[in-house]
Amino acid sequence: MTDDSQTRLSERLRVLVQTVQQNERTLRRFQDVELALIGAQDFDSFLEVLFVRLPQEFRLHSVRLWADTALPLLKELLELGAPQGAPRPELLVHAAARDAGARLCKGGSPWLGRGDANVPSPLSTFFADALPKSAILLPLTQRGMTLGYLCLASSDPNRFAPGMATDILERFASIVTASLDNIAHRERLKRLGMTDALTGLANRRHFDERLQEEVMRAARHGVPVTCLFADIDHFKRINDTHGHAAGDRALIAVAGCVRYQLRATDILARYGGEEFAALLVQTDRQGARIVAERIRRAVAALEVFDERGERIALTLSIGIAVKMIDARRDAAGAAHALIEDADQAMYRAKRNGRDRVEEDD
Ligand code: GH3
Ligand code: MG
Ligand code: MG
Repeated sequence: MTDDSQTRLSERLRVLVQTVQQNERTLRRFQDVELALIGAQDFDSFLEVLFVRLPQEFRLHSVRLWADTALPLLKELLELGAPQGAPRPELLVHAAARDAGARLCKGGSPWLGRGDANVPSPLSTFFADALPKSAILLPLTQRGMTLGYLCLASSDPNRFAPGMATDILERFASIVTASLDNIAHRERLKRLGMTDALTGLANRRHFDERLQEEVMRAARHGVPVTCLFADIDHFKRINDTHGHAAGDRALIAVAGCVRYQLRATDILARYGGEEFAALLVQTDRQGARIVAERIRRAVAALEVFDERGERIALTLSIGIAVKMIDARRDAAGAAHALIEDADQAMYRAKRNGRDRVEEDD
């Protein structure tokens, strides 16, 4: 190989490595934003991530979201729910945006292109004021249905151009879709009075309803139902030592920590004052043991401090109940018996020294 071709080769390699590294960095930053979207507790913080954090992270001109209010869940979300205060200009509901989206994103594919002030641009339906130099329009589809469109705009005319690879952005759009759907459900539960105000978890009423549904489903399919019952150890003493406000913060921290250890499809509720119940979907006894032990360890490792900076030692006693449900039995009775068994197992954990997991027998 000549010196010249070697130099060219190493230059190409250098560029290649640089591109890979840059893609990796971009991917990681997208993942951070995605996690913030998935973790958003309400519609307002979801929109904050989308309209403020996303453009900051990726140096975008702006972001627009059109949501289809013909869908009852989204209509409720936009009309009744958050955001509190003034409506956000980035959030669109007018039908012209739907028509433009449908025209541009043929076959459910993203559209990329320039905004041209001289030619009437389809983008103008998304940007009434200042037309961006280029943009990508991503359809938000779920199970073949379009929930809305997400538009990312740039002041750089070459940022979004036809023919560009869009896989990262399409993946991002699917996360936005799932998060939007999730937030809409969450806000509905809030409105129906099915969440606990302090922790944001489902409340006991919601849990009991879901448990009954799960009991019926499990009976039909001949699979067991798996439930955990957890109670914070010596919580009265924690309140007495660190104060009630610190106790509240500890409760919120434990709730978040337990939620984090579960799957998105599992149901977790604040069942009573310092008690939590979890319904583990499609989990057998062995799986329940692993999850319960993981929760126990994660809570014991929590770093929560009171106003004086003193660490609040937190531990849980956890009971596991796993039951095959007789389809002939009434669902409410079976659900009650399951909770009862998990509660009994939890009390055994208390008697055996707390900060431990016990099972029904
Ligand atoms: P054990 O280990 O046996 O469970 O002891 P414990 O002290 O946790 O149990 P106990 O049932 O005697 O006390 C529960 C305490 O939880 C008493 C109550 O004041 C406190 N608690 C219940 N709800 C809340 C709440 O929303 N905020 C705060 N800060 N404390 C709460
Ligand atoms: Mg208790
Ligand atoms: Mg307790």
